[in-house]
Amino acid sequence: TDFGFRRVDLDAKQDLVDDVFHKVAARYDLMNDMMSAGLHRVWKDVMVTRLGLSKTRPFRHLDVAGGTGDVAFKVVGAGERATATVCDINGEMLKVGQGRADKRGLSDRVTFVQGNAEDLPFPSSHFDGYTIAFGIRNVPRIQKALDEAYRVLRPGGRLLVLEFSPDVVPGLDRVYDAYSFTVIPPMGRMVTGDAQPYQYLVESIRKFPRNDVFAGMIAKAGFSRVEVTPMTGGIACLSGGWKI
Ligand code: SAM
Repeated sequence: TDFGFRRVDLDAKQDLVDDVFHKVAARYDLMNDMMSAGLHRVWKDVMVTRLGLSKTRPFRHLDVAGGTGDVAFKVVGAGERATATVCDINGEMLKVGQGRADKRGLSDRVTFVQGNAEDLPFPSSHFDGYTIAFGIRNVPRIQKALDEAYRVLRPGGRLLVLEFSPDVVPGLDRVYDAYSFTVIPPMGRMVTGDAQPYQYLVESIRKFPRNDVFAGMIAKAGFSRVEVTPMTGGIACLSGGWKI
């Protein structure tokens, strides 16, 4: 796993990822909407609905690689007594998120913490839920991030991972490839002035483990009742499991 990278390559990968998100932080939300034609909102809604938050029960949630706070805002919107911590390695993305939280009057229920998914700055058995949306693909040591997810969840806690998947259904895969390689990088250049970050985006999706392999990694981290739900012809996949 970890695509066979050696340590030095993994550190270089994190540097590249950090550079990408520094460049795009300010226009990140706009780009998300444009490139996925708004689909990322639907996928995130499916994930947050699956958390099954109740109106009355307190819920302590952690959204890792949470960037500008999208998922966290949905979580505290769905559960009246839910609080969310957004953890991201990139201070620029968090700054945008904190600004959005202030504007929405949610600063008391959503907290922003800088940290690495591979080495979370939280105590063990602390959270009721852990989500990571379009983030784990960027983490150099994926298994380590999943192990950390397991550690910070309390027994009975739930992991949900939303990620682009290389398992796109035949037929759609050609259209999707054409879109990815010919539309996305130029669109990125148009909005952020740089195509390179979006070239990276497209390539990193192709390199991500297939759904069944990824499910195996979730199980290896210790999770039970591992679930895998492909969405939108397999372009995205929602997977997860329970810490029993
Ligand atoms: N979850 C948000 C969303 O769906 O809109 C943001 C996703 S964005 C594509 C990927 C995020 O992963 C970036 O904000 C980046 O800074 C963060 N990231 C990359 N490597 C990370 C790491 N090792 N630990 C925590 N966050 C990381």
